[in-house]
Amino acid sequence: MTLLDLTPRVQASSRLDTLPVAIIGAGPVGLATAAHLAQRGIAFTIFEKGSAIGDAVRAWGHTRLFTPWEHLVDDAARTLLADTGWEDPPAAVAPTGAALVADYLEPLAAHPAIAPHIRLRTEVAAVSREGMDRTRTTGRSQVPFALRLTHPDGSAEDIAARAVVDASGTWSHPSPLGSSGLPPLGLEDVSDRILPPLPDVLGRDRARFAGRHTTVVGAGHSAANTLIALATLAKLEPGTSVTWLIRTSNAKRVTTADDELEGRGALGSRVERLVDSGRVALVDSFEISALSDEEGQVRLHSTDGRHHDADLVVANTGFRPDLDMLRELRLELDDIVEAPRRLAPMIDPNLHSCGTVEPHGYRELSHPEAGFFIVGMKSYGRAPTFLLRTGYEQVRSVVAWIAGDTEAAGRVELALPATGVCDVDGGGCC
Ligand SMILES: Cc1cc2nc3c(=O)[nH]c(=O)nc-3n(C[C@H](O)[C@H](O)[C@H](O)COP(=O)(O)OP(=O)(O)OC[C@H]3O[C@@H](n4cnc5c(N)ncnc54)[C@H](O)[C@@H]3O)c2cc1C
Repeated sequence: MTLLDLTPRVQASSRLDTLPVAIIGAGPVGLATAAHLAQRGIAFTIFEKGSAIGDAVRAWGHTRLFTPWEHLVDDAARTLLADTGWEDPPAAVAPTGAALVADYLEPLAAHPAIAPHIRLRTEVAAVSREGMDRTRTTGRSQVPFALRLTHPDGSAEDIAARAVVDASGTWSHPSPLGSSGLPPLGLEDVSDRILPPLPDVLGRDRARFAGRHTTVVGAGHSAANTLIALATLAKLEPGTSVTWLIRTSNAKRVTTADDELEGRGALGSRVERLVDSGRVALVDSFEISALSDEEGQVRLHSTDGRHHDADLVVANTGFRPDLDMLRELRLELDDIVEAPRRLAPMIDPNLHSCGTVEPHGYRELSHPEAGFFIVGMKSYGRAPTFLLRTGYEQVRSVVAWIAGDTEAAGRVELALPATGVCDVDGGGCC
């Protein structure tokens, strides 16, 4: 190291210690990160782009989770909440997303150790290092992070942080309908009839689907939820019908019974019965290339020249991480799933059953950019199998690393249930 390197490092390092950790996103994993930081007495700020915490979970709040409460509460959060008289919800019950927010995330966010440090309606548009774009190396790890924040009124500000935990999820970035990974040609002509994942078919959005033929695209568990809701609506509202369109030759990912997560296995079995009974029509091996308007109907065109018509299409084709906001950071991401490189082989559905996902922590989640971590749903990139328990273990280890507690950071404290929901065809889960 040269003298030129050393002086700025020493000065900057003392400044680093005075700065808070920045957490991006107030979902379950961002809030768990806050609980772990609060427990260790480390200052933090959570930036949440929504107008309330748990914004993404609220969007699918009508959907029931497939894991019960015993797997949904972070240990540090439980310890904090115990001070307030909060009691664990019934361990064996799987809540809806709305109940997860009301009965756990809201009380946690309201805790005095966390509430003053949440900034709502504040989107992190980009992350960099103060005065250092991606190309500059000297002293980089001792220079504070710079987060560019944007507000609903269009204004922007930059703030500094000692470390960044990106828990921003993937909900805002659904994968396109086209099997090439691109939006299908013709999308703009029918975009008013292409709906995002997990509409509230039996509640808020019921009138939209009643009496119409809806095609649900995708082979994951979000698709399964929507298919079950539409089949129920079809019993109640004459003229309602539903088709399930998948790009693979079988629907094993959803309908497998080989899933230790009981709720998720049950979801698959129900869809299988709906297909067998004819209440849900199945179109398989259909790779979408283009869309067109056919006298008010959406026509889906396949790469092999077939077509399929529907009044409405629900796109459940998975999610992908927003990496644009991280352009100025030095990341090490897998080429296929866009997850941190050391984590990717453990979760890539091309390689193995999801049941082999190992608990993991700061080592698998670190990047060349020291002090920056992607955690939670976003850490799985395009892989569909993330579970909250895994995220809570991630942030326990990452926060221990930030605190300098290498022993706790390196420990693994979690055993996960095996699941048989991955096969070698790829596809989506949640
Ligand atoms: C329908 C469904 C059912 C699921 N069921 C289960 C289950 O049963 N069990 C289980 O373990 N897991 C389940 N999951 C998977 C996973 O646990 C959830 O998706 C969970 O919400 C992930 O938590 P998270 O905190 O990582 O991300 P999110 O909950 O997506 O939270 C991210 C937060 O970041 C905010 N945000 C995003 N971008 C920015 C930005 N640039 N700046 C500021 N804020 C931002 C969002 O508004 C959001 O509030 C399910 C997922 C879905 C979709």
